[in-house]
Amino acid sequence: MPDPRTLISTAATATTGQRLAIDDHNRAYAGMTYVYPVVSRRAGGVSIGINLNPNNACNWRCVYCQVPNLQRGGPPPINLPQLERELSQMLDDITQGAFMSRFVAPEQRILQDIAFSGNGEPTSSPEFAQAVRIAAEQIRRRDLFPQVKLRLITNGSLVDRLRVQEGLHFLHEAQGEVWFKCDAGDTRDAYRINGSRQKPDVLLRRLCLCAQTCATWIQSCFFLYDGHPPSHKHIDHWLNLIDRALDANAPLQGVYLYGLARPSFQPESARLGRLSSPWLEALAQRVRQRGLTVIVSP
Ligand code: SF4
Repeated sequence: MPDPRTLISTAATATTGQRLAIDDHNRAYAGMTYVYPVVSRRAGGVSIGINLNPNNACNWRCVYCQVPNLQRGGPPPINLPQLERELSQMLDDITQGAFMSRFVAPEQRILQDIAFSGNGEPTSSPEFAQAVRIAAEQIRRRDLFPQVKLRLITNGSLVDRLRVQEGLHFLHEAQGEVWFKCDAGDTRDAYRINGSRQKPDVLLRRLCLCAQTCATWIQSCFFLYDGHPPSHKHIDHWLNLIDRALDANAPLQGVYLYGLARPSFQPESARLGRLSSPWLEALAQRVRQRGLTVIVSP
């Protein structure tokens, strides 16, 4: 998944920007396949991203996706020992090495999370559950709980698979959380935005299952399309989905509403634009009226 943590960044320098330009800033990370550092001024610290889709393949095709050369499909087999080595090296460099002093402004020298959020859908990897277990163990071994959170950023389309459920259980045991994508509550909008034919009833069932398994936030991206904001119908369907999740007693943590902070890498890019902060805030208010916590990142 393109990383919503990077979407909420606003600058592109090493200390305030998004995923570090590893070729330019640190060749040690350029050799890594699965692990990358993210420095985010808006998020106020450092994140470690785990990319289980190094081939830029996803089972969806969102119009705003920031993965270059995105293709449909799943990832190649993950080399778990290599993933473990890379994560261990990155954690050592961030917690004991020179990473913070070289790349991060003093007030942001805090490691915030390790997030499964790469160039595709992380749960499509058959090794997803083992990868979660490895990451949880690395955090535990360094005694970084609870200040370093383990996160999964997902489109949620595979959470009802047994091996994904197993990974969610590991995530729950590690007091981790899920950011579950929900951009539309209607089949046509979902296809237009996410290239997904997932029906709202199926999305709802998966969302409820996920929230019952592990702490879950809804993450939703809104933007201008051909100069127009999302239609009233689009928003009504989306809110209706949230209402149905609440009616079903899904224990949601809240909703992240975010806009397009950076350009899409998809063919629709030129048709997309940023919504204003007041527009997103007005929508957030409608969600808060339902008793949910909402975080807005225009
Ligand atoms: S779910 Fe959408 S945004 Fe995330 S990686 Fe797949 S296509 Fe990109």
